[in-house]
Amino acid sequence: MTASREIGIPICQSCGMPMAEAELQGTDREGSKTEEYCVYCYESGEFKQPETTMEEMADLCAGYMVEEGMDEAEARSILANSLPRLKRWSTGAEVQKSL
Ligand SMILES: [Zn+2]
Repeated sequence: MTASREIGIPICQSCGMPMAEAELQGTDREGSKTEEYCVYCYESGEFKQPETTMEEMADLCAGYMVEEGMDEAEARSILANSLPRLKRWSTGAEVQKSL
């Protein structure tokens, strides 16, 4: 085991989920783990929902966050701020990393 890293947990660049464990990471075409996307969004080098829009992703994520006890308005406000910065949804603009 390497030392636990408090910072630097990879965030899924599609849904924004922190991938604290390797088994949450998606896989590329060779079946290797990728730190870019989670297992729910990305498998074998392809998005599981290639037609999903950012709005639909926000709906989906908000549902999970509300299930975990978050206020829906708060969940949506977090998603509105975080999703556009993710690689999948950013339109090539330089993404500002705050961490
Ligand atoms: Zn994801």
